[in-house]
Amino acid sequence: MRLYNTLTRQEEPFAPSQANTVRMYACGLTVYARGHIGNFRTFVCLDVLRRTLRHVAGHEVREAINFTDVDDKTIAGAEREGVDLRTYTDRYVAAFAEDSARLGLEPVEENPRATDPANLQAMADVIKALEARGHTYRSDGSIYFKIASMPDYGRLARLDHEGIQAGARVDSDSYEKEDARDFVLWKATKPGEPTWDYGVGPGRPGWHIECSAMALRLLGEPPIDIHAGGIDLIFPHHENEIAQSECATGQPFARFWVHVEHLLVDDQKMSKSLGNVYSLQDVEDRGHRPSALRYLLLSSHYRKQLNFTWTGMEQAEEALRRVTDFLARIDRVMDDTAHEALATRIDEGRRAFDAALGDDLNTAAGLAAMFDLVRAGNTAIDRGEIGTPDVARFHEAFAHFDQVLGVLSLRRAEEAAPPVPEEEILQCIEDRRAARSRREFAVADRIRDDLAARGILLEDGPQGTRWKRK
Ligand code: AMP
Ligand code: ZN
Repeated sequence: MRLYNTLTRQEEPFAPSQANTVRMYACGLTVYARGHIGNFRTFVCLDVLRRTLRHVAGHEVREAINFTDVDDKTIAGAEREGVDLRTYTDRYVAAFAEDSARLGLEPVEENPRATDPANLQAMADVIKALEARGHTYRSDGSIYFKIASMPDYGRLARLDHEGIQAGARVDSDSYEKEDARDFVLWKATKPGEPTWDYGVGPGRPGWHIECSAMALRLLGEPPIDIHAGGIDLIFPHHENEIAQSECATGQPFARFWVHVEHLLVDDQKMSKSLGNVYSLQDVEDRGHRPSALRYLLLSSHYRKQLNFTWTGMEQAEEALRRVTDFLARIDRVMDDTAHEALATRIDEGRRAFDAALGDDLNTAAGLAAMFDLVRAGNTAIDRGEIGTPDVARFHEAFAHFDQVLGVLSLRRAEEAAPPVPEEEILQCIEDRRAARSRREFAVADRIRDDLAARGILLEDGPQGTRWKRK
């Protein structure tokens, strides 16, 4: 398969360096809040990459996605709520697992947390190696990486070396873009902050060292095959991960760097002040199921910005319904004649899908190949030119598409889900009432229809809305 590599700014043929197993690391969530749908765009796209590597390219995957469970924001959050850091971050780690499952993300092999003792030890070990090789200095109890000690610093982000300010230090977890400075590896203990001592002095890790150490610990000899994350991480986070890892080991860190473009909401950056930071739950509260969001998030190419709108969600629902309607429709075919031309058409569709996904994960073209088959199948039904052997072939092809896209099986699971708990029904009724009072009747109708699809009927009356199970 071919994959765009941020390091070379080119699409390149990709295969794992060791045997048939792709060793892959993705920067995970900073667990100070529930992940938003922008975070999940990155994780859904990387899930499609993982599935493409397995089911289209035929590789095995060993993948780690971390949790950043100590940084300025998590510490501030725990402090604000008066709980210890672990209790605070546990909540968002659990929420991530829940949302990931609802979005059909395949579990990955490793989900390391920065504050696990083995990981803190690994971070201290990388820092010790950097100290021994002369890449660090200490100041006020903190340890910094000296950028001037690495001649090719800035390779990934293509920084202009003139602009690099040697010797200026930054020890916060928030960084100015475009400004490379000596960054903190290990932060001196501050009163009231969590602190650990693994042999480099008491303190806590900087953000960048976490990922370098966990990737090196869990994925074997560098270079690993793929390092991934959202596009905002190229600089400084990934640049600094490269600096730390390569200076500590003397080996290249990662062969391919894969970055997912941002999700925008109504053409704007998601931000608390704009009130457009949506979680999966917010999307569900508007009457959509996670399968539709998953569809939307993977429907455009991962290297293009994607603009989230409620109209887009409606269109995703509609597209998904076209496929599920088609799959239900072919099941009503009774004739058992096979049609060679249709069989050939299905095989072509399958090849077109694999070619699209293998071409730097062109999901948009993959979906187009799938919808071409939906059209061809519907035409065949209209003309009576389809038999049960062709239907079986269609099902095989769509099962393959779904191994990669993970949308149809997710929708099926949603539909077969256990009885809707009363609490959830009452919440839906309330959401529907709120939608109607905003005059969002399409939303209100969808909530009613979705409940109906799950076996719950609503009846509006003078006393409000009553419900019963079908
Ligand atoms: P964070 O919790 O901020 O460290 O982010 C976790 C992951 O989500 C990182 O890979 C980010 O690059 C990615 N991410 C954050 N915001 C967005 C967004 N709006 N669209 C896509 N990915 C994002
Ligand atoms: Zn990272």
